[in-house]
Amino acid sequence: MSKVIGIDLGTTNSVCAYMDGGEPRVLINEEGQRVTPSVVGFSKSGERFVGDIAKRQMLINPEATIHSVKRFIGRRHREARDDIAKMSCSIVETRDGDIGFEVAERTYGAPEISAMILQKLKRSAEDFLGAAVTDAIITVPAHFTDRQRQATKDAGTIAGLNVVRIINEPTAAALAYLHERRRRATIAVYDFGGGTFDISVVDIDHDVGEVRATRGDNTLGGGDIDNLLVSWLLREVLDEHGIDLSTDKAARQRLRDAAERAKVELSAALETEIHLPFLTATPTGPKHLQRALSRAQFEAMAQPLFDRTLEECRRALADARLTIADIDEVVLVGGSSRIPRIKEMVRDFFERPLNQTFNPDEVVAVGAAIQAGILEGDVKAVTLLDVTSFSLGLEVEGRRMAKLIPKNTVIPAHRSQFVSTVIDNQKTVKVHVLQGESALANENVSLGEFELCGIAPAPRGAPRIEVRFVIDANGILNVGARDSRTGLVGNLTIRAPTGMSTDDLERARGEAIEHEQARARLDDVKEVRHQVERILVALEAMARDQAANLDRAGAHQLEHAIKRGRLALGTASERRPLEDLSAWLRQVQAHMSERLSNRNSSVH
Ligand code: AMP
Repeated sequence: MSKVIGIDLGTTNSVCAYMDGGEPRVLINEEGQRVTPSVVGFSKSGERFVGDIAKRQMLINPEATIHSVKRFIGRRHREARDDIAKMSCSIVETRDGDIGFEVAERTYGAPEISAMILQKLKRSAEDFLGAAVTDAIITVPAHFTDRQRQATKDAGTIAGLNVVRIINEPTAAALAYLHERRRRATIAVYDFGGGTFDISVVDIDHDVGEVRATRGDNTLGGGDIDNLLVSWLLREVLDEHGIDLSTDKAARQRLRDAAERAKVELSAALETEIHLPFLTATPTGPKHLQRALSRAQFEAMAQPLFDRTLEECRRALADARLTIADIDEVVLVGGSSRIPRIKEMVRDFFERPLNQTFNPDEVVAVGAAIQAGILEGDVKAVTLLDVTSFSLGLEVEGRRMAKLIPKNTVIPAHRSQFVSTVIDNQKTVKVHVLQGESALANENVSLGEFELCGIAPAPRGAPRIEVRFVIDANGILNVGARDSRTGLVGNLTIRAPTGMSTDDLERARGEAIEHEQARARLDDVKEVRHQVERILVALEAMARDQAANLDRAGAHQLEHAIKRGRLALGTASERRPLEDLSAWLRQVQAHMSERLSNRNSSVH
């Protein structure tokens, strides 16, 4: 088996780690960085960039740059309207109600965009490790729904990764803790990232960890703090210049970028300056924006968001039936946990110093790598029992939900319930699977439904149909139903629909392979171009520095070769003509060097 890598596929940044001799290590990407921005950009010619380059083009080409795709993965268009309104790229509703990113004359699903990030991480890992990487563990927020987990798995499949396990981010962080500190403790993992917030309470007993409760909010992250600042800046522009920039995508992107930078700076400084020259222009001339922002002002603005995280902490403790005094340590995870006010609030809330020994950007990927080590047998005697984040159940009479698997049940888990008919001789029974905490069916998330057909005629209530819920180690649910009298089973196992059928997945995987091959061909061409450029630069230096040592014919020949070479380099796009050009220029170079050395020896 090739090495299994651990991937923290983040809203803002992604990190990859692996096990090396029983110890987790963070992988370095092609740009030499430990962290890869989760950003995908497209050029006008359809070329695709992922990571730092894409992040850099976000300011100049916001329409063709997709960030925060994790906020959209596995969600329906109608569920994500607020988030969609804040994006600069074009997002449409697909025929089946899913989210489509319209870019470079195509529409991509969120799993396809996420797959592009995963493909880049996979390639970087292969370069770094010098071996093919096929298996991965991907982390997701504890509060990801079944549909979001499935869609993340689909993204892995498209990228050519066998996703051996999906694990919860705070659980991964707890694993990293468990790996390092084998002792008895109850820890709280406070995970405040770019797009989501999660809090988990975990009991650690030397080499066994058990998640007691997990809570969170999939729509609360650093990006929301940035949006608050953007709204404030938009109001300032309106006040100062009377201009509403809320629909100007390019200006919004610049404001967003400046807002995030200011926020990060305020984690280290008490005051920062937001300076945006030439933000827009009117007939009266260019308009600039300059504002000072103090840490205190920033904290006041963001306080309502910060408070929401503490509310979740309170609920998680209640779910775990614990009090603050029961928590031994608090581990901070996620970039937003670097905000000083957050640290202060969390410390005050839990009434104890924070554990800051783990790098909040990397600890999740490290935990995922440790999970990989456990599966591969490299890491021994560590067990972490995870729990479900939501209750799962069935719609029953009266449009109510009967819970089969309550939230915070240790996974993997299975439960069964018998259901029956409600009228005499009823031939079919509908099984509607729900996720959520409300007693009313329509207030919960519908995961899917199917019908068990061909039930033998019987008085109402007589048939006994067993509905079985099985939730696997990835937190993904399968539901089956069986008529216990007739043994009838139908097409009963549902797979939460992610908007991607098997055909769609295969098509997307095929395209990803094609793209990878085209990219490899392009890399080859770029490499040969680089060789040609290098010889041309050497020839130009020769023409410049050795002019006095060349006779007229030689100088003319050299000048001609350089001109011809530059022209050909400007037009050639295929590998073959570039290789021919490179070979010819090398001959010219050798010939001129020989001419020069002959002349030098005859002069002496
Ligand atoms: P993550 O999802 O864990 O990569 O966290 C990314 C989020 O953390 C983004 O919203 C960043 O702007 C935010 N972030 C990163 N570093 C800092 C910092 N020093 N202060 C405040 N926010 C930060």
